[in-house]
Amino acid sequence: MTTTAATGASLAVRGLGAGYNGLEVLRDITLDAQPGITVILGPNGAGKTTLLKALAGLLPRRGSVQLDGRDVPAGNATACVRSGMALVAEGRQLFAQMSVAENLELGGWLATPAERAERLAQAFADFPRLHERAQQLAGTMSGGEQQMVAVARAMMSHPRLLMLDEPSLGLAPRMVDELLAIAQRIAAQGVTVLMVEQNVRKALQIAQRGYVLERGRIVAADDAQALLRSDAVRRAYLGVA
Ligand code: ATP
Repeated sequence: MTTTAATGASLAVRGLGAGYNGLEVLRDITLDAQPGITVILGPNGAGKTTLLKALAGLLPRRGSVQLDGRDVPAGNATACVRSGMALVAEGRQLFAQMSVAENLELGGWLATPAERAERLAQAFADFPRLHERAQQLAGTMSGGEQQMVAVARAMMSHPRLLMLDEPSLGLAPRMVDELLAIAQRIAAQGVTVLMVEQNVRKALQIAQRGYVLERGRIVAADDAQALLRSDAVRRAYLGVA
């Protein structure tokens, strides 16, 4: 994958809190992500999706979020994209009745038409399968192909921080591997990848760092390899007695 994506950013989150209608879900989250892959693990309902949404400006939040030392304003999704963040939300959220190419073009909404055309050509070079199916309606693609469209669409904004919410959800094992390989390739270009993933072992194998979120709080933070070896993670997530 050769790309014109901008180089990765350092993300620094300090004392982040967020929730819904006055109900606090996340408390005092402190987290860093560097170029490479950082994975967020945790049981259902821990607040992983809430965290990515709060970072992407889709939910109000407290605390500070900085990209390369510059404050990212809270609760402002457009400002987050302008500052270099992109989120691939759980469930992909494609426009099912629009073509693959049209879905991708929408990801470049802040770019000039010339930049958009250049990025689309790059996306098709990076994802040949999407090139072959450029005119197919997104809603008729397989689950794995739809997830590729969602990732390629996010890359159209040239993010320095790409956030992926369970990219492999509902996919067959071979497709899971393909999606995780795509995340790895994107990270290898220098993009900072922050990923929520239920395939704990596979995710930690490709990540540099990991955080474990439980009931809205970070309960463990370490190198990915150390988390893979940790008794707590092995017991809770890897089914090791
Ligand atoms: P999963 O692995 O099941 O996707 P998660 O770790 O991503 O879980 P969240 O989706 O962030 O967890 O949910 C955290 C908490 O916030 C849960 O208790 C959930 O019920 C609650 N929650 C999520 N979305 C909303 C919402 N729109 N309104 C109210 N509460 C919500």
